[in-house]
Amino acid sequence: MGWSGGGVLCRGAGAADNPGVTSPTLTFAAARSRAHGPTAALWHAVEVHRAPADLDGACELTVCGTLARVTTEEHWPVPAIDVCPACTTHA
Ligand SMILES: [Zn+2]
Repeated sequence: MGWSGGGVLCRGAGAADNPGVTSPTLTFAAARSRAHGPTAALWHAVEVHRAPADLDGACELTVCGTLARVTTEEHWPVPAIDVCPACTTHA
């Protein structure tokens, strides 16, 4: 007495992690600019197309056009108050 209905081959809820699949997802890394004259140090967003860990410690051009040092200690959006308003708008 087999019933062929259903056919449920649920693969579970782990569908989100699919290793091996490189998706061109645009992500942002958090970068800290240095205080420069009257400009205070701010958190900026850096557009990254790979793992932010690869950019750790590197100076990259931020979304707003500033050079800032990428850090992996924080993730964009940074839960801080000293965040670049331009980067907040565009990232
Ligand atoms: Zn910025």
